[in-house]
Amino acid sequence: MPSNNPLLQNINTLKGVGPKMSEHLDKLGLKILQDLLFHLPLRYQDRTRVYPISSVQHGQEVLIVGKVDHCSIIFKRRRMMVCQISDNSGTAITLRFFHFANVQQENLSVGTEVRCFGEVRQGRYSFEMVHPEYKIINNDATELSGNLTPTYPSTKGLQQKTLRRLNTEAIQHIELLPEVFPDSLRKKYRLITLAEALITLHQPSSKNAIEQLLSTNHPAQQRLIFEELIAHHLSLRKFREYSQQIKGIQLTSKDTLYHKLLKSLPFTLTNAQQRVIEEIKQDMQQHYPMGRLVQGDVGSGKTLVAAATALTAIEAGYQVALMVPTEILAEQHFKSFTEWFEPLGLRVSYLSGRQKVAQRRDNLENIALGLSKLVVGTHALFQDAVKFQKLGLLIIDEQHRFGVHQRLSLREKGKQGECYPHQLVMTATPIPRTLAMTAYADMDYSVIDELPPGRKPINTVVLPNIRRDDIIKRINALCQQGAQAYWVCTLIEESEALQCQNAEETLQLLQHNLPELQIRLVHGRMSAVEKESAMQAFKSGKTHLLVATTVIEVGVDVPNASLMIIENAERLGLAQLHQLRGRVGRGTEASHCLLMYQSPLTEIAHKRLDALRNSNDGFEIARIDLEIRGPGDVFGTRQTGELQFRIADLLRDQALLPDIQAVAEIIIKQHPESIQPLIDRWIRTDEDYVHA
Ligand code: ADP
Ligand code: MG
Repeated sequence: MPSNNPLLQNINTLKGVGPKMSEHLDKLGLKILQDLLFHLPLRYQDRTRVYPISSVQHGQEVLIVGKVDHCSIIFKRRRMMVCQISDNSGTAITLRFFHFANVQQENLSVGTEVRCFGEVRQGRYSFEMVHPEYKIINNDATELSGNLTPTYPSTKGLQQKTLRRLNTEAIQHIELLPEVFPDSLRKKYRLITLAEALITLHQPSSKNAIEQLLSTNHPAQQRLIFEELIAHHLSLRKFREYSQQIKGIQLTSKDTLYHKLLKSLPFTLTNAQQRVIEEIKQDMQQHYPMGRLVQGDVGSGKTLVAAATALTAIEAGYQVALMVPTEILAEQHFKSFTEWFEPLGLRVSYLSGRQKVAQRRDNLENIALGLSKLVVGTHALFQDAVKFQKLGLLIIDEQHRFGVHQRLSLREKGKQGECYPHQLVMTATPIPRTLAMTAYADMDYSVIDELPPGRKPINTVVLPNIRRDDIIKRINALCQQGAQAYWVCTLIEESEALQCQNAEETLQLLQHNLPELQIRLVHGRMSAVEKESAMQAFKSGKTHLLVATTVIEVGVDVPNASLMIIENAERLGLAQLHQLRGRVGRGTEASHCLLMYQSPLTEIAHKRLDALRNSNDGFEIARIDLEIRGPGDVFGTRQTGELQFRIADLLRDQALLPDIQAVAEIIIKQHPESIQPLIDRWIRTDEDYVHA
């Protein structure tokens, strides 16, 4: 490609892109013009027609037009502006604003005609829109758009308008984008051209395309799904090939420490745990670095597999790093590993981004001198200041919280001279083996397909929020008898601040209603020390009830907790709910999970909550999730999986995987020059492993 190809030009050379905006774009991984073409819409808004207000339904995102009946500023817990409009269908709807300027009220005088776009919610007395986009219609009413309006993944401070405008500029150069699939391949697999597919997705124009795009399998989507999966697969294949050529550290040990650990445990390992530990030990004896993914449902005992393997590396004379996604989990693992390892004479350290300078310096020194054998931490582990003396094994827990490419780049960072550390990756996400072979083509795969004995299935109940008072009474009774409970607060608002505020309010309400119980709070805005103290009090049984945001979702292990209440459960994804629920049912007590919801539930939300009620099995829940979503839901799942695909969805698209493997072979053998362009356009990373 000639270097004056505008698609390869830096985005900040475009008109109107200043330093602030390029910072935002950079956050989204958008650097050159071409990146914009592969930044695909999350969903579309249909602003092509006006709905009569009488026809709107809860949950719909619609365009309406009406005249202002009244508009006033009121105080109800918060200051807000409330405006009622109605149209000639004879129905009124309420518009509610929490952030507004007084001049807005003046402009919405009685009789003014406005066009609004927003999500319809069932309010107390009528339908509402909270913070709709609106425009006052003067006589010069603008034409309705004939196109669907794309909504792109964005970041705070970057407007959709801007993304749409930049995208339009990039599309102008689309003919410069190389088509990597030869005609013969495209014919065989019935793929439309790349340019055609991208134009359709960014600027869906005909009425026909609209229906198809919103429903199912549009050829444009199919083409891109296919290409993305191939790109992903090729990059991992390349990485695997490279991994097997580089040097690892051959780790062998007599297992003295391992057997000591087993003796100290109050239980024996399950067969599945033992099998997986053996597989890992085999890997670590190879002359190239291990890359192994361990899948095990919540509660299957992955932490002990990590501990056992760590001991092999330590006994062979190396250090182990254990990386987790949250500080709460890091803190908890630090405690567990200290309990297991200190009696064996091994020092465990914890590195946190928020430690005091002196403590941090001590920790770093112990790590550099090789005195700390196991180091637990969040991604703070991989700051440049952290230098291991001899790192032999890197374990990543709850890997779905980290991106795939983050995982790959960490290996490079852990390099010791000529040798690379082994890597063990653990996840609760249900990934069938066949999927793993394509999607994690760089790794080997083990499953812990057995729960420790004696677990009782969690009894899950679905209840409307209005039953809150009954639930509170029930908690009181149970906790008085010694049970411990989590109360999880959820809010749809993006803002962490609001989530935490909501949890604080819930704490007050519960303290007021349950004066006899010890109740504590944990959320993301508390200091590390506060969080630790709240978790510790709960773990030791001093606290009956822990009010929390979803910060406790991953990894938290308090076996005595047997009751979980999740508010507004309909707002969370099934996978997330399953993870959260997995915080109970870890001991021998029968456990309960109460899923509370805000009425009215959409039919789909209803089915989803039912699925949880009927099953405790992660694989089964994932299967039902897919079924409920249906193959047509192309845009619904972007954020849930650990694989950050832009359009593909492994579960949904698994039928394509044999074709993906076949085409990948053809490209490797016959069109090797296409590999790098494919990887470059789909896999966004600064790390040079892709070029290695
Ligand atoms: P997860 O796979 O979700 O990370 P954990 O490692 O946190 O699960 O283990 C869940 C609980 O089960 C912990 O309290 C742990 O001590 C316990 N556990 C792990 N293995 C066994 C076993 N073989 N027998 C009994 N309990 C076990
Ligand atoms: Mg875990």
